[in-house]
Amino acid sequence: MKFVAAINCIDGRTQIPVIEWLKKECSATYVNMITEPGPNKILAENKDQFLINSIKRRVEISTKKHASKIIAIVGHYDCAGNPVAKETQMNQIVDSIKTIESWDFAIQVVGLWVDENWQVHKKR
Ligand SMILES: [Zn+2]
Repeated sequence: MKFVAAINCIDGRTQIPVIEWLKKECSATYVNMITEPGPNKILAENKDQFLINSIKRRVEISTKKHASKIIAIVGHYDCAGNPVAKETQMNQIVDSIKTIESWDFAIQVVGLWVDENWQVHKKR
């Protein structure tokens, strides 16, 4: 049994593609799904400390109680919570990875982009 985590949008169109990608590419059995509208914007800006702490607490539970070693940060096409171009979202994903890495959990962070066909692509 292997858990991984994802910080994903609340948008239901992104849930199943991200779960399936993580199961396939990371051999995950289960995904701890942490959702916010436009989470890559929230984590890139790193300003709303209430929200940031809430996300961080949930990541901590996933790492400590479920031994997650991989976490995805997700951006996607047509995001209501983060209605900016793909290129901007890709930069936000890079900055989000830096934010998550700064928390110093023993976890590998991967950036994912979900495109207009709801296909998942790895950022790095
Ligand atoms: Zn969204």
